[in-house]
Amino acid sequence: MNSIEVNDLHFSYAKEEALKGVNLSVRSGIITGILGPNGSGKSTLFKVLSTQVKPHKGKVEVFGLDVTKNPAEVRSKIGICFQSPSLDPHMSIEENLNLHGRLMGLGTDALVKRIQWGLDFFGLSARRKDRVKILSGGLARRAELIKVLLSEPEVMLLDEPTSGLDPGSRLDLWTELKKLVKEKSMTLVVTTHMMEEADFCEELVFISDGQIRGQGSPDLLKKNFGAEVLTFKFNADSDAQNALAKIKTLAGGEDRVRKTELQIRWETPRSKEMSTLVLENWGPQINEFTWGRPSLSDVYFQKTGRSLS
Ligand code: ADP
Ligand code: MG
Repeated sequence: MNSIEVNDLHFSYAKEEALKGVNLSVRSGIITGILGPNGSGKSTLFKVLSTQVKPHKGKVEVFGLDVTKNPAEVRSKIGICFQSPSLDPHMSIEENLNLHGRLMGLGTDALVKRIQWGLDFFGLSARRKDRVKILSGGLARRAELIKVLLSEPEVMLLDEPTSGLDPGSRLDLWTELKKLVKEKSMTLVVTTHMMEEADFCEELVFISDGQIRGQGSPDLLKKNFGAEVLTFKFNADSDAQNALAKIKTLAGGEDRVRKTELQIRWETPRSKEMSTLVLENWGPQINEFTWGRPSLSDVYFQKTGRSLS
């Protein structure tokens, strides 16, 4: 079942068209990652999904509810965590959660239970009395997530939840997000501009310049790439230059050949035949050779014509 269906969505700011015909489906019960560089339209897409702004064209449904016609119902199903912190830094975690729960109209019993569940789940019970301003980035982010979870949303939108965290904390947070999906059978949609995070998602959506350029599981995207990646590292630059000229004549129209310092990298569907040929011709001049499946960075480049750092 799909939680979110987006069809030909357009949205423009005064001077700029931020979403240019976005088509997207989000499957329930998994983590879908929306991967794209800064400025590609991720946050704008979340603003539309969370009913903060209305689509200018197209259809957007959350559990079959139209965001334009039924914004209140959509909001009751969605929890959203934007990039900027929303907790009061001068209040404790618990005070923040209590205040938010009260504003939402939660009764005492439900509120106490949900706060306790959240604190336990994210390992924050012992820190409940700490002011938010003294927490590390990772812990503050977890407190934000507990706040969003208080309404028990069916689908959670997390806009770059790991931004500003160090690699270790990013990994920890992803581990917890995966656990959350499993234990609560939730649907998570997570944006990121970091390629390293792509493999944490069961489904990936590539966004670039306000358009979706590819969607699928990381495995399927790699399988559908249609080529393998060969790399040859030469001993000397002159040999690499000679080989490069020859390889370019051998390469097919869809192949991508790049030389970086002493290494030639070649994406080709005829990898077996071509690697044999290169090794036969330049074997003694090559000191390293690899042959493998494409990475998600390769797929992203193929689909969007640009790299993600
Ligand atoms: P991302 O979240 O992927 O970084 P955004 O959705 O924030 O991308 O931005 C998409 C495009 O819309 C960018 O070119 C950005 O400059 C522009 N944009 C975003 N927010 C605003 C705004 N409030 N006013 C005007 N332009 C905006
Ligand atoms: Mg953004």
